Amino acid sequence: MDGWDELERRTRELSDLRGAFDLLSWDQETQLPPKGVAARGRQRAALEGVLHERLVDPRLFELLLRFQGERGLSPERAAWVRVLRRQAERARRTPDRLVRELALATSAAVEAWRLARAEGRFSLFEAPLARVLTLRREQADALGHGGTRYDALLDVYEPGATLASIGPIFARLVPELQRLASAIAESRPEPLRPFVGRRFDLARQWELSLTLLRAIGFDLQAGRLDRSTHPFTMRSHATDVRVTNRFREDDPLPGIFGALHEGGHGLYEQGFAPSIHGTPLAEACSFGLHESQSRLWENLVGRSLPFWRAFFPELRRLFPEALQGVDVERFWRAVNEVRPTHVRVEADEVTYNLHIALRLRIEQALISGELPSAELPSAWNEASREILGLVPPDDSLGVLQDIHWAWGDLGYFPTYTIGNLYSVILARAAERELPNLWRDVERGELSPLRDWLRRKIHAPGRLEEAEATVRAAAGEGLSEGPFVDYLWRKYGELYGVRR
Ligand code: ZN
Repeated sequence: MDGWDELERRTRELSDLRGAFDLLSWDQETQLPPKGVAARGRQRAALEGVLHERLVDPRLFELLLRFQGERGLSPERAAWVRVLRRQAERARRTPDRLVRELALATSAAVEAWRLARAEGRFSLFEAPLARVLTLRREQADALGHGGTRYDALLDVYEPGATLASIGPIFARLVPELQRLASAIAESRPEPLRPFVGRRFDLARQWELSLTLLRAIGFDLQAGRLDRSTHPFTMRSHATDVRVTNRFREDDPLPGIFGALHEGGHGLYEQGFAPSIHGTPLAEACSFGLHESQSRLWENLVGRSLPFWRAFFPELRRLFPEALQGVDVERFWRAVNEVRPTHVRVEADEVTYNLHIALRLRIEQALISGELPSAELPSAWNEASREILGLVPPDDSLGVLQDIHWAWGDLGYFPTYTIGNLYSVILARAAERELPNLWRDVERGELSPLRDWLRRKIHAPGRLEEAEATVRAAAGEGLSEGPFVDYLWRKYGELYGVRR
């Protein structure tokens, strides 16, 4: 086909440049010595400029237009053109000036946010945040939308999702979660973590992370584990996927669930079919679907009793003293403890999505302009009281707790909930197709589930959009029903409460 070879060459080069860029970013978070920060900033900006130039190159666009709707294309090539056209279009619609201004505004906002959070003073963050909001509104208009600016931003992270599609899901989900959380609170549960505060050797926690990564099927010949302040996953290529983790000496749970969470992300990145490596299809369909993979391993598997029947003996072997007097059932109850918290990243499965509902309400009002940024702390506290039943004692534990808005990431938060909902939909489908799934998990045999996910979700990459991929795997699209049923069944049993 005339021109396809050129399109392919340009595409693969973009993919290699992006892999190099991602590796520079990974290095910055894990290895970079402090004096290298400024130079690294310039290196990343230079490479980003090259990437942008290639992506908006008129010749590339001409080729994409030529092949768009071309009948003779295979489904893979048609999807390739669709995905790359979308990326190129977005890049072309955002003026260079806006890209530069956003980069400056977000780095100023991140710096202000750190200071504001440390001092618990929102006022230090207000003006830099207002600047980011102005630019993101401008960007939303440049990208285009059907009247709701927020949709243009949401679409960056969750292609195809709109406020009209996810709003009603949140509206049904929130009261269900509130009902379950209050039923649990009324059951007056006892504190469940007698081991927190004892000493868990850090070298052994590291060893445990590697054991868990291997167990879920993360390939350490095509990836590695490192430490960072906040755990994350980054891939340079499907054959080079970096996950990071953090550890606390007085509590093994952050290390355990960090490994399972990032490992779940890592499996997605390692799982693209080799035939699509180097193409725009070797990428997650959406942030929500990516998060479903981490949550499935972290929560559906990692907080299940069968999983701990398999892995608790290893835990006892590594930490015999710290786990004295704790048996597998007690440990399983401990990792499923439900208690309301001000901080999203510390939230349990039941209340987590209430934190997201709160952020969704606030950020769409910020983007629409309905909520002036000066009123943000009071609006936050009011929404927190209404949705979570808690008023934060200060802004550090309230409106200043997350870095996302400083980064300019508005429209990102809902993907966490979308991921949680998808994770249950997919786990239910896997259970139906793999009748021995939980017996296998109980034997520490996790490869049947890993292989199922690889086949249904990882290997196809972006061949279809997220919801179509889930529909093909599970026979249903996004809804809150399966998630709510799952929570009531699991926590009903754990806390002896009824729907
Ligand atoms: Zn994640």
